[in-house]
Amino acid sequence: MSEYILVTGGAGYIGSHTVIELINNGHKVVVVDNLVNSSYEAIARVEFIVKQSIPFFNVDIRDYEKLSKVFKAYKIKGVIHFAALKAVGESTKIPLDYYDNNVTGTVNLLKVLKENDVNSIVFSSSATVYGDVTRFGDDRYIPIPEECPMDPTNPYGNTKFVIENILKDVHSSESEKWKVAVLRYFNPIGAHPSGLIGEDPSGIPNNLLPYLAQVAIGRREKLSIFGSDYKSHDGTPIRDYIHVVDLAKGHIAALDYLHKINEGGLYREWNLGTGKGSTVFDVYNAFSKAVGKKLPYEVVGRRAGDVLDLTANPARANKELGWKAELGIEQACEDLWKWTTANPHGFNVEGYSSKTFESDGNYGNRLQTFVNGELSVSLANRGALIQDINFDGDHIVNAYDNGDDYLLKSNPFFGTTVGRVANRIANAEFELNGKTYHLPKNENNNTLHGGLVGYDKENFLGPIVKKEKDVFIVEYKLIDPDGKNNFPGDVENIVRYYIDNKSIKIEYEAQLINDKVDATIINITNHSYFNLSGDATTDDTVVKLSYDNYLEVDAKTLLPTGNVVKHDRVDANKPITLSEATFYDYCFVIDNDADAIDTRKFELKKVFEATHPRSHTKFVVSTTEPTYQFYTGVGVDTKGFVARSGFCVEPGRFVDAIHNEKWAPQVILKKGEVYGSIIQYDLS
Ligand code: NAD
Repeated sequence: MSEYILVTGGAGYIGSHTVIELINNGHKVVVVDNLVNSSYEAIARVEFIVKQSIPFFNVDIRDYEKLSKVFKAYKIKGVIHFAALKAVGESTKIPLDYYDNNVTGTVNLLKVLKENDVNSIVFSSSATVYGDVTRFGDDRYIPIPEECPMDPTNPYGNTKFVIENILKDVHSSESEKWKVAVLRYFNPIGAHPSGLIGEDPSGIPNNLLPYLAQVAIGRREKLSIFGSDYKSHDGTPIRDYIHVVDLAKGHIAALDYLHKINEGGLYREWNLGTGKGSTVFDVYNAFSKAVGKKLPYEVVGRRAGDVLDLTANPARANKELGWKAELGIEQACEDLWKWTTANPHGFNVEGYSSKTFESDGNYGNRLQTFVNGELSVSLANRGALIQDINFDGDHIVNAYDNGDDYLLKSNPFFGTTVGRVANRIANAEFELNGKTYHLPKNENNNTLHGGLVGYDKENFLGPIVKKEKDVFIVEYKLIDPDGKNNFPGDVENIVRYYIDNKSIKIEYEAQLINDKVDATIINITNHSYFNLSGDATTDDTVVKLSYDNYLEVDAKTLLPTGNVVKHDRVDANKPITLSEATFYDYCFVIDNDADAIDTRKFELKKVFEATHPRSHTKFVVSTTEPTYQFYTGVGVDTKGFVARSGFCVEPGRFVDAIHNEKWAPQVILKKGEVYGSIIQYDLS
């Protein structure tokens, strides 16, 4: 059984950055967070960055039963404990909530640790435990060493002080066993260089840089500088600002230090700071430089409780942990600005909401809903599927209303992304670069839709949700590993939805990663079943196909003969009324000479149109792909749905292209190349 690091508060600002560093350093991670001051979106984005899923539990650390369950489900080897309320001002107003959350929460966590024989803990303490170090009347404790006596000046700081003492007592009670690292942070700033995660304060930010960032994007008018008559080079107070990525790395160093102790326990405090103080104006100037303009500010009177200098002496951490802060305030300001401009409202995107979708509350498969004017679209992580398209009150796709039903064997690929290779591969084998690959047979003698565990059965990572010019951009990622269903090579797949108020564009992108093979095969599409009738079947739907040549198939095997011929029951752009008597399951050909692996550069061609007399919605499909399968859903027989309950229009590559010399290049993805395609649904 693999061993995990439990991160409490892992969805928060410092926690989320630390989860990335843990995974980058080869650790496996479980996150517990009650999301009281954070969003699950942070974890979804971390998964995107580290390209793997992270078990997440929405649990309050004060809940003994639920916390214990996590320890039963995962073998935990150590804990990094971030979960806490942290606003100094708020703590003076609701001190009991702070003591309950931070202190009671930690006591509860320690009880669960003890019960499960987990003895390593890294604790987030704070420089606030030192209080006002100018109280000694001289600068003997500036920069501040760990030996500086503690004297916090507010309830928040008191909770950290109390918890440090509790940890010390717990260690003393079994000093051979417990390994406790207390990390006292100075002022964490900045964001992940990817621009995908950062600090997302709710309400008015308490700290200098988040406030400045909101001034820069116009959410606040100007910065107030509290006092410019301190004895510093420019009159403003001095603090020790540490890049959050450096801070995160400090936790890995502390954890490794604890785990390297072979005999006996440890209780030890380390300052995590840079040792270099910066004034408010230094930070203001660095951030203005990152933004490219001077930001409005006003100097007002000193703020009660502020002192001249709170700079760390980080020598102990530098020496003992072998850790040193490497990034300066300039880098932190650049990263913060990148995060702020890409996410002006933090993790919130107007019109976007999400919830867990399966009955076990598993966060790996959420339902994400996007409302854009008359159009509302719901997507889920499983298969990066389309669960709902609601246009002007018409729900036009077949779907189950809960995530569990998508696991039904009878599910005919409702709404899902299909891959690694959509449609059939004859005889479940193919040859590539002189090697024969044998695939699982899941449809007669063939491989259909990627084999036994196709993309439809995987939870995609993410999504990353953005809104640009009133268009939602929703990006999912799936790493399909080498050897799964016996396909060669690790493939990184991106499914990107663009949702405006009357269209959904889907973009597929894939490439080989990790250099395991020189080539693989691929063909990705979406398998939505459309129904405009508002009824159990699509009968009376009037459809027009823009192309009437199709890929002739052998009647018995359903495999292509290699001929492209005119379909005897389809004339381009002539209306066909669907009924019990009409049956279609054919691959229509748009471009017989296609050989590109990335079709996104080609013209988006209209290939299909549908209307229904009882619906006011017109539905149009366009694509850059060379073919599309048109299927009238005659085989559908699943919970709540009957035959002909929906029709499919699946643009993609030629069926079984790998076995045809002319068409094979469409599906062979070579190292260094990018597979790409576009499908668009327009509604009017
Ligand atoms: P944050 O609020 O972004 O993260 C804390 C996380 O803990 C949040 O995701 C929150 O939802 C979660 N949480 C709170 N109470 C919980 C509970 N009872 N059960 C489960 N989850 C709970 O704050 P942050 O800035 O990332 O700070 C992390 C830790 O570092 C905190 O302990 C904080 O006191 C400490 N710290 C922060 C700073 C700073 O300036 N950010 C400075 C020194 C110390």
